[in-house]
Amino acid sequence: MKSLGTMEFSLTQSTLEETCLFEDLPLSKITLKALKKAGYQQATPIQAAVIPEVLSDQDVVGQAQTGTGKTAAFLLPILERFANNEEKTKDPKALVLVPTRELADQVMQEAIKLSTGKSFRIAVLCGGRPIGRQIRQLQSGVELVVGTPGRVMDHLRRGTLQCRHLGMVVLDEADRMLDIGFRPDIETILKKCPQSRQTVLLSATVPPEVERLAHNYMRDPVMCQVSTQKEVSADTIDQYYVSVQPNRKFDLLVHLLNEEQPEQAIVFCHTKRDTDRIAKELKSKVSKVAGMHGDLPQRARDRILKKFRTGQVRCLVATDVIGRGIDISGISHVINYSIPEFCDDYVHRVGRTGRMGKSGTAYTFVSRDQGHLLTQIEKRINKLLEPAQFDGFETNPDSVDRSPRKKSRRPRRTRAHDSGSTSPRKKNRPPRSSRSGGSGKPSTSPNPRSESSKSEGSPSNNGNFSPSNGKPKRSKRKYRRAL
Ligand code: ADP
Ligand code: MG
Repeated sequence: MKSLGTMEFSLTQSTLEETCLFEDLPLSKITLKALKKAGYQQATPIQAAVIPEVLSDQDVVGQAQTGTGKTAAFLLPILERFANNEEKTKDPKALVLVPTRELADQVMQEAIKLSTGKSFRIAVLCGGRPIGRQIRQLQSGVELVVGTPGRVMDHLRRGTLQCRHLGMVVLDEADRMLDIGFRPDIETILKKCPQSRQTVLLSATVPPEVERLAHNYMRDPVMCQVSTQKEVSADTIDQYYVSVQPNRKFDLLVHLLNEEQPEQAIVFCHTKRDTDRIAKELKSKVSKVAGMHGDLPQRARDRILKKFRTGQVRCLVATDVIGRGIDISGISHVINYSIPEFCDDYVHRVGRTGRMGKSGTAYTFVSRDQGHLLTQIEKRINKLLEPAQFDGFETNPDSVDRSPRKKSRRPRRTRAHDSGSTSPRKKNRPPRSSRSGGSGKPSTSPNPRSESSKSEGSPSNNGNFSPSNGKPKRSKRKYRRAL
């Protein structure tokens, strides 16, 4: 048992080596058949830990590394309990709240897959989509609502969504849902739900303050923790940092993509503006590139993500709008063009690769003055990132200045990328010196080309992403850094 103030969590520790058959879990034959059809052979440790607890009416906080099947861990009990609704009541029985519209769609797809053979109706309530259709769907009756807080609030205000028959509420990506950007909406929504409901929280990162907050919304929750706080990031991901001068980042990105030839890659940028700019410039250097952020119209977001899922886009330049939850098996590389300001965001970004036992690679670009952010990440994941070097971009990895920065210069956590909510949000900009491109600093480059004039001298690549002469030469050099 793990004691936390007045709240007690019983700790269910599993290891990744442990296996569990779905047949050993309290699941119906029809669900087992659906799992077989989905190709799921055995339950993952988080599924083995969470499913029996939820089915025995427990409130649960579930923590497991990215890509370990947390979605099915909460969907299977929902399906067991609320599918084939005999009474055919119209009000939803379960509500799943997620931070982005794309994740809501993905959860719906998983629910459709796992509900084979059952009568189960799902409504996705997200902003950027016609509300009329959502209202009609709710009127005709659904068992499950999956939504982003903003649009769910909108339906509550209109009286088109009724929460009185909700038996279960799930916060997927719980730490994001309870951070300062979403928390007021979540609290309003939870107040409308019956006191007797069950509450389930899931994430790869459950910081202590979320555990504490959970106490306000849950009754005697059980903590199902598959990864300890020390192994928060999946060990299937090879994680490197690349020390680079800000004005050479774009050239390095092009070089890296040509060298590594990722099956698919996400390039994470800090701001929407950077995302647009890098995507635009990258399109002239490599093929199958797209950019995506929360300011794009929803139709464009949907179109781009669909192309990424089907492989028509191979390199997606994006903000953290797709940093959480998105599951695309082709993603072999994650590149942090801008180092994340918050170390848990790092865990989620790199967790877009190396999922379900597949291997993946993550590179984080670090400029000299960003060493403190790198150190924070390493502390969070409890491992050192290895320095990687690329021909023509050699720097001394020890030149990264790791001296701690003054606390007051750190930006406050806000949600700037998703537009699911109707409430006004503060948009804090990080200090200029730590924004992507770090342009507040004088260049120390021997070749002081700016990013906007980067095309000269860039490694040539015929605008093609695929290897021109067989296997790419791996020119990375790795150094073991002293602790
Ligand atoms: P998480 O939420 O932990 O990041 P997801 O729920 O997105 O992970 O699952 C990752 C992938 O694994 C998805 O493609 C999902 O369909 C698949 N998956 C989930 N459970 C199983 C299982 N038991 N066996 C095989 N694949 C699974
Ligand atoms: Mg997930």
